[in-house]
Amino acid sequence: MTGPGEEPVTAPAPGAGPGAPVAPAAGLGQLGAEAEDARSTYGEGALIMCDRLVRIYATDGIEVQALQGLDLLVADGELTAIVGASGSGKSTLVNILAGLDTPTAGKARVAGHDLGAMSPRDRLSYRRTTVGFIWQQTYRNLLPYLTALQNVTMPMRFAGLPHRRRAQRAAELLEVLGLANCAGRTPAQMSGGEQQRTAIATALANEPRVLLADEPTGELDTATARDVFAALQTANRELGVTVLVVTHDPAVSAQVRRTVAIRDGRTSSETLRHGAGGEEGGELGHAVEYAMLDRAGRVQLPREMIDAHGMKDRVRLEQEPDHIGVWPDRDTRP
Ligand code: ADP
Ligand code: MG
Repeated sequence: MTGPGEEPVTAPAPGAGPGAPVAPAAGLGQLGAEAEDARSTYGEGALIMCDRLVRIYATDGIEVQALQGLDLLVADGELTAIVGASGSGKSTLVNILAGLDTPTAGKARVAGHDLGAMSPRDRLSYRRTTVGFIWQQTYRNLLPYLTALQNVTMPMRFAGLPHRRRAQRAAELLEVLGLANCAGRTPAQMSGGEQQRTAIATALANEPRVLLADEPTGELDTATARDVFAALQTANRELGVTVLVVTHDPAVSAQVRRTVAIRDGRTSSETLRHGAGGEEGGELGHAVEYAMLDRAGRVQLPREMIDAHGMKDRVRLEQEPDHIGVWPDRDTRP
């Protein structure tokens, strides 16, 4: 690993290797220097930073690359949805960000904590105070023999908060999330949606910087899912917590400003919704889909677009005053 204080990489020799792209040597040298520069400043100021994150599972001699160099930046105060096919690496990502798992390579940093290099003690405190986590399975989030109020209070007891403050904050959280009527009920006496909202309140107990939710509405019907998602929005808007929510629900991504799509263990595209109304909980304006441009200049073109133009192996680029044109390589077609 190259630290920020070390020498920048030397430029490769001009025309190195038979397969090297034809480019002026000066350009290559500059690229190398820029890449090195970008490495030391990448993610500065972001609350969540994943830099070429890799997670390989090895079981029974079979390797699964769940994350294959994933880059992601999330600013403080954002509410971001993560979407992607089953098996694309969404849970692996949030488990790492939650401090439940560690990356095989690459970097993950949340609120200044380097998740690849934390002592067990720091990890515990990180999980207790910096992040809140909500599982898809409602039963994993709450203790079944405690009431909603007691569940929300529990993390604050571990954190050593005085009794009065605990009771006050727990009541406030239940109130903000519309759960005041559930305070004295155990999970069995609540609906699935109420349980998940109580789980959100519990995750927020110690005022975490980040709230992570892995398909929190996956087991719920559409209407209930909407309530749970609204609770995440309330937490984001009224308590200022940064929210990262994994979802399968297209209706959810229609309601957030930013949706990041993960494919094969990498961020593949992003949809940003512009326009007013989102802050007040109304409908957001039109959506624009963006492809990710990595620091080496790589762009992944959506499969539909590639297929529609019969693109294969290589494409021709044309620099225009305000955009870059990508053309199929007709010359070499049989
Ligand atoms: P998603 O949440 O997007 O459905 P996951 O992050 O759960 O995807 O899984 C990504 C890939 O890693 C999948 O191929 C999955 O089978 C594999 N995987 C996840 N967890 C483990 C594990 N503990 N051991 C081995 N492979 C795993
Ligand atoms: Mg998952």
